[in-house]
Amino acid sequence: MKNKIILYIFSSLIFIGVIFFSLSFLSAFFSRYNKSKNYNLENLKNKRNIIPLAILGSGPAGLSAAIYAARSGVNTVVFTGPNPGGQLKDGILVENWPGVNKDSGANIMNNLERQARDFGAIIINKSIDKIDFSSWPFKLGDYWALSVIIATGAAPKRLGTINEDKYWIKGILSCPLCDAHLIKNKSTVVIGGGDSAVERIIQLAPYAKDITLIVRTNKIRAIYDMYKKIKDFPHVKILFNKEIENFEGSDKKLTGINLIDTKTGIKSNIQTKWVFLSIGFQPNSDLFKNYLDLDQEGYIKHNPETQETNIKGIFVAGNVSDKIYKQASTASGDGTKAAANAVKFLSNFLINKEAKNLIKENSYQPNQEKGIKVEQITSLDQLNNIIKTEKNVVIECYSPLCSSCKAVESIISNLAYKYKDKIKIFKIDILKNKQIIKEYNITLIPEFLLFKDGKLIDRKSELLNQDQISDFINAGFNL
Ligand code: NDP
Repeated sequence: MKNKIILYIFSSLIFIGVIFFSLSFLSAFFSRYNKSKNYNLENLKNKRNIIPLAILGSGPAGLSAAIYAARSGVNTVVFTGPNPGGQLKDGILVENWPGVNKDSGANIMNNLERQARDFGAIIINKSIDKIDFSSWPFKLGDYWALSVIIATGAAPKRLGTINEDKYWIKGILSCPLCDAHLIKNKSTVVIGGGDSAVERIIQLAPYAKDITLIVRTNKIRAIYDMYKKIKDFPHVKILFNKEIENFEGSDKKLTGINLIDTKTGIKSNIQTKWVFLSIGFQPNSDLFKNYLDLDQEGYIKHNPETQETNIKGIFVAGNVSDKIYKQASTASGDGTKAAANAVKFLSNFLINKEAKNLIKENSYQPNQEKGIKVEQITSLDQLNNIIKTEKNVVIECYSPLCSSCKAVESIISNLAYKYKDKIKIFKIDILKNKQIIKEYNITLIPEFLLFKDGKLIDRKSELLNQDQISDFINAGFNL
């Protein structure tokens, strides 16, 4: 009898155990099935240009993600966006990038880019401006991505004040190192009160005759160590409690700003041709607002442990999602976390033979480069020789520190290819060619100069897209 009872208890326990395990297995199966029901392999059929991991943005977040993912063996494509290299490439001297005592942001970003390419990441100098995240795979322009890391960063904020657009790059600037040569011995204004504003003053101080910092409240937000550096500069003056009412100037150039004191209401004016705006940054998240959850300021909401957004398979990294730290090193860490989780997400598909074949058959193959290398002119003599001997010449004046110039780099290379039988295209780094700047009075970059039969026939210093530059060249040379 005793034995029967023990046997009964034992078999009941086994029965309960089997039921328990079956239920948990079924629940795990159904929950996995549920979560992945939109991520059906059938969706990959008849799709061209499939990319396992697409990274949008090429700042420290995007490139760190690319290094990690490409090194893990995932086919990774980085779309650089309109500002390749991100904010760090905009003429910033960096002292707190781990392992580097002091170096230019441009060098740091070039090293990151090289490292990502060395691990096999493909870097495309392009902006994605149309997306559809409503189904999987995710549509990015003409490409289909199995997984996406958004690292589109942030753009300098604008004041939204009267005439700001009119004088943008015609006196109102945001990149001090690119434009420092313009303010040599000139009175200059910096607007802001954070670390960026103080850093800009440190960069501009060796060049400017004097600098006025305009702060809208009665205190500076920059950390004291940074502020301490400018407090004792004899030619730097700080005006507190001042707001900008409007900018004023001629048709072509800024000549001054009108201020109002927020405490007394007293109005004043500063005559200046150069204003550097440093009032913080706005996350570049507008493109994603119909699909991803954003907070009130536009930062993309995400799980801080995984960097995943509200859509499975889409991750974020860096300043587009970080409103607290905004440092290159934290952006890089975000990128690594996002990549690790994207790799994990992709492993669900990449271990499946059918998926692997579908992806392989339809994967994106980078085209042969259509552009050609554009030669540099390094002296006034060389320039004069070229315009004497070549019939039609286009010169792009640029600086490696100017973000707008970076955006036209690939365009110029494409146009050099397009016009290779009719026109010679060259570029000039204005920071290395002071004689040329003086001779041709170059004040704003990028600037395009057209020479025909040895004579300067036209010039333009606006930020233009490929078609607009093409139209300008066609009109200039009657093509
Ligand atoms: P912040 O947001 O820190 O500061 C913006 C400044 O601009 C504030 O003083 C703000 O005033 C002022 N401002 C904002 N809007 C207006 C407006 N409409 N009119 C007038 N003034 C305005 O931005 P930063 O770009 O300075 O810095 C961004 C981040 O990058 C920070 O985390 C900073 O620490 C970091 N950084 C670090 C550096 C380094 O470590 N080397 C260098 C540069 C930046 P208010 O205070 O009244 O809001």
